[in-house]
Amino acid sequence: MREPCCTATTEAICDKSDHAEVCFAGSVQLGYCLPSLALRFHRRPKGETILTVINELTPSRQAIRNRILADLSADDFATLEPLLRRIDFRGRTVLQEANRPVEYVHFIEDGLVSHVAGSRTESVETAMVGCFGYVGVPLILGSSIAPQRAIACMPGSALRIEADELSRLLTERPQIHARMLRYVQALMAQNSQSVLCATKHEINQRLARWLLLAIDRLQSDVLAITHEMLATSMGVRRASITNALLQFEAEGVVQKQRGAIRVIDRAGLEQRACDCYHIVRDAYASAQTAKDGCAHDGHAHDGHHHDGHAHDEARGPDGEVAGTA
Ligand SMILES: [Zn+2]
Repeated sequence: MREPCCTATTEAICDKSDHAEVCFAGSVQLGYCLPSLALRFHRRPKGETILTVINELTPSRQAIRNRILADLSADDFATLEPLLRRIDFRGRTVLQEANRPVEYVHFIEDGLVSHVAGSRTESVETAMVGCFGYVGVPLILGSSIAPQRAIACMPGSALRIEADELSRLLTERPQIHARMLRYVQALMAQNSQSVLCATKHEINQRLARWLLLAIDRLQSDVLAITHEMLATSMGVRRASITNALLQFEAEGVVQKQRGAIRVIDRAGLEQRACDCYHIVRDAYASAQTAKDGCAHDGHAHDGHHHDGHAHDEARGPDGEVAGTA
């Protein structure tokens, strides 16, 4: 991304000839002159070029899928946006290793990442992170060490920022910190509900809950996930997952696809899920204020687009530690 060539708030003068050319072609897009503002250029009689902010939401910002970034004010986002770098990740990519320093905070745009609690021999998912959240919570809580591993259970992409840069920004921009803290509250609800769900509820209920939480975060009915990965995430035998999915398929709730599962009856899935789904869903919804909600189409649980997009693009190597790449 190019460095900003000039400073503009609501109006500024730019005398670079190449920008004048852009000016006459229309508004400036991401990264050309100023990375996060759409501008209109005017040529004055004596040759100056005037840049005027005509829209604080550039197409790049409107295309942001991460709810936390989308919820930020235009001013806060403009401060953050030049520091964000987009990365793609494959399934099993480690975004954060346990007991290691937090080097980056990843705002998830697409795909799913599992927070995993583990011992030397076993591990289980404590929460899933998608476009409603980010990986790197310890940093927001004032710690530099992550207690859990964060590993992709489905391929996707993220906008990441270096930990040091975000720490500095959080002191200057308390509203960013506040929004990120509200997410932590929702994540804690998911963590605690995962414990109850794993110990008290039947496998079919748990699977239905998992699938619902996943399709909400992917904003797609199609989950590019294997039975093996589902079993690992839920800490159960693969055969148990296969049996439960066969039953859901026979009941017309899901449909098996090549390397993926499609949810074809969401209402039926909700009927089969335990209350844990609604509790977690509501926790995420309440993490958004009414003001925040205007950035997208409503609450966290209803932004479901059914676009059927399968995440099958080739991405980085398996097992890559994205945080140190
Ligand atoms: Zn449950």
